[in-house]
Amino acid sequence: MSLSANARRRLAEICGTANLQQSPEERIAYSYDATAMLAHQPEAIVFIESAQQVSDVMKLANTEGFKIVPRGSGTNLSGGTVPTENCVVLVTVKMDKIIEVDPRNLTALVQPGVLTAKIDEEAAKHGLFYPPDPGSMKVSTIGGNVAENSGGLRGLKYGVTRDYVLGLEVVLPTGEFLNCGTKCVKDVAGYSIKDVFIGSEGTLGVVTQVLLKLLPRPAARKTMLATFTTMTDAAETVSAIIAAKIIPCTLEFLDRMTIRCLEDYAKIGLPLDVEAILLMETDGHPAVVEDEAARMIDLAKQHRARNVRTAKDAVEAEKLTSARRAAFSALARVAPTTILEDATVPRSELATMIAFIQQTAGKYKLKIGTFGHFGDGNLHPTFLTDERNKEEIERVHAAFREIFEKAIALGGTITGEHGVGLAKKEFLQQFAGKTSLDVMRALKRTLDPNHVLNPGKIFD
Ligand SMILES: Cc1cc2nc3c(=O)[nH]c(=O)nc-3n(C[C@H](O)[C@H](O)[C@H](O)COP(=O)(O)OP(=O)(O)OC[C@H]3O[C@@H](n4cnc5c(N)ncnc54)[C@H](O)[C@@H]3O)c2cc1C
Repeated sequence: MSLSANARRRLAEICGTANLQQSPEERIAYSYDATAMLAHQPEAIVFIESAQQVSDVMKLANTEGFKIVPRGSGTNLSGGTVPTENCVVLVTVKMDKIIEVDPRNLTALVQPGVLTAKIDEEAAKHGLFYPPDPGSMKVSTIGGNVAENSGGLRGLKYGVTRDYVLGLEVVLPTGEFLNCGTKCVKDVAGYSIKDVFIGSEGTLGVVTQVLLKLLPRPAARKTMLATFTTMTDAAETVSAIIAAKIIPCTLEFLDRMTIRCLEDYAKIGLPLDVEAILLMETDGHPAVVEDEAARMIDLAKQHRARNVRTAKDAVEAEKLTSARRAAFSALARVAPTTILEDATVPRSELATMIAFIQQTAGKYKLKIGTFGHFGDGNLHPTFLTDERNKEEIERVHAAFREIFEKAIALGGTITGEHGVGLAKKEFLQQFAGKTSLDVMRALKRTLDPNHVLNPGKIFD
């Protein structure tokens, strides 16, 4: 079934002709996102400029029987914005205003298409801080972050997007408006409805406004880079830091393959003969930062760190963290197809999980670079492959399955931050259990009776 002439005409009326795209080239551009090997062309693309337009498009979808795929910047890694049959992609990037920063209540009210990094830049002008910092923060939107409940490099100390969402304006799949949450620090009036939408991957409603919590900006920060001859030493350093009751804002790691690709890409002087690098950052009161940094360096050395480099100033610190943020891009240069995964385990199981990933790479003769949020137990094994090589792709799938099964067996999860989307729904069946899936499906049926919003994502 394809989009009717009437639906196309009404979409142009609602959003303006300039905001409706439907040429073959435009449809190809919105047929995929940052996820490898998934693509399907939409019927059309609309750029919305107001919540009312979202509501009108949603009502039209219900009467005309087409489907809607909400989309921010399309950087998700689970196929969340890949269209299925008879879909219109609804892009939020033109709704990009920071409506208010309220220093008296420590909040920011923003539209869904605002880039994540802009929120923190704006907060900084008021001495405030928006901590969630996904590696993609310079290009991802806050709407996408809310829909994926994204994490970032500072997740260990500061948590994920959900921890900063105080309220939402959502357009439901029926076109109705829902406002939930307030500026109040405490609000327990009824169910926490906003939490249903956070992490719902664009399947339950389109977020049209986000009320965010801000924090006072930390006065000091120290960034360090420790190198290790074995991954076990790096993992044990992380455990020792946590056991010493230090909660750094960042504890990120890179394995040997990632270090090599990154150095080749960013040329920042990383040693090429080490097995692991740990990026460590502490922030807060200057005296506490000094104390924690000294103890972290000590603990790294006690666990046989070969070298610990401390950034001498903010510029060098930014260079080191930017390098870590570029890990995925650096790996992506190596092979035609890069598949980045998201296996997550309790922190105590990190060394076991990393060893298993390395064994699996050997068993299936695959190139896997692993990096990620060590402090959160969130690993990104990244397969460097070529989708044209069908036999190799079969091995990739077999390796994936084993890695996810191992993560689950170790008490972990199939995704720590990238979501289920299209890419992992088969694993969700196994992971979530029947009752959880039944509750999720019941929610979906209640809010989206005609199944117009982002079909096929999370579950069939
Ligand atoms: C280089 C790179 C690094 C990354 N690093 C991280 C990281 O450190 N941590 C992390 O968690 N993720 C990371 N990601 C994944 C990705 O950036 C995040 O999932 C991000 O939140 C997606 O934002 P987006 O604007 O691109 O959303 P999209 O990809 O456009 O959409 C993501 C999902 O949200 C839905 N959606 C989008 N906007 C709305 C809306 N307004 N209302 C309702 N639903 C909506 C979509 O339907 C889709 O299901 C990374 C990706 C890349 C490419």
